[in-house]
Amino acid sequence: MDMNMSYGSDYRAIPATSIGNGVGMEVLPDLYCHTIQIVNISLVGDPSTKDFVLVDAGMPESANEIISVVEERFGANSRPKAIILTHGHFDHVGAIIELIKHWNVSVYAHELEMPYLTGQKSYPEPDSTVEGGMVAKMSPMFPIEPINLGGNVQALPSDGTVPHMPDFRWLHTPGHSPGHISLLRENDRALIVGDAFVNVKQEYLYKVLTQEQEISGPPRYLTTDWNAAKESVVKLERLNPTVAVTGHGLPLTGQYLTENLRKLVNEFEQIALPDYGKYVNKKMN
Ligand SMILES: [Zn+2]
Ligand SMILES: [Zn+2]
Repeated sequence: MDMNMSYGSDYRAIPATSIGNGVGMEVLPDLYCHTIQIVNISLVGDPSTKDFVLVDAGMPESANEIISVVEERFGANSRPKAIILTHGHFDHVGAIIELIKHWNVSVYAHELEMPYLTGQKSYPEPDSTVEGGMVAKMSPMFPIEPINLGGNVQALPSDGTVPHMPDFRWLHTPGHSPGHISLLRENDRALIVGDAFVNVKQEYLYKVLTQEQEISGPPRYLTTDWNAAKESVVKLERLNPTVAVTGHGLPLTGQYLTENLRKLVNEFEQIALPDYGKYVNKKMN
């Protein structure tokens, strides 16, 4: 293990939370998701085999919670074969360094996300002026400096395969961040979306708090390329997923997913695109 790892100097715990905090849900027998404050992590793998992967790494200072969720589901001292990151935003890598140290585990992310994970590049500043509520207003306190995982993070294979997830392939779904990915299992079309779209209006604190279900585009304050974000949603809708675990909000399934995802594609400008904000150019392709 490369022990030279660090968070950015702006790394800090964020007080935002939701009624979903600490709640876990078995979406499929081998797909479990758990909410850390306001963000979801997923455990992919059959609990009887102990062969599993963790997708995303929660909020800052949540390592102990993630380790106990894993041990509750897979047994004492169990550890994932790998951690796959949908992207490198603070709420998806918040506990990653403690988890790497605890499990001595490999981490994979898209090549275009690597600069943000190896200390080279900060994310653009969150847009606190974007149309939206309290979470958007709080967003200047969100960490954006790169974390540095050194040699512990590797680029995903370019052929679309996902290490230790043989039934899945990764899809590049940029817009919310340059190297954002989603994960698709082809045999049952189960999808782990990351923040390409979410199931709660993440900008609005009371909706985050109550986890009111509402399909939405990517969280607005951190999304910088809205044309790419729309293309990514179109790409995901075409896959006709049967289940979707999103980075924020409750998982979506069946007819509800199909209808709402189609609606998001057809009404992307109305539902997802903010009316104003510094990364918004209203002339969508
Ligand atoms: Zn994000
Ligand atoms: Zn997120």
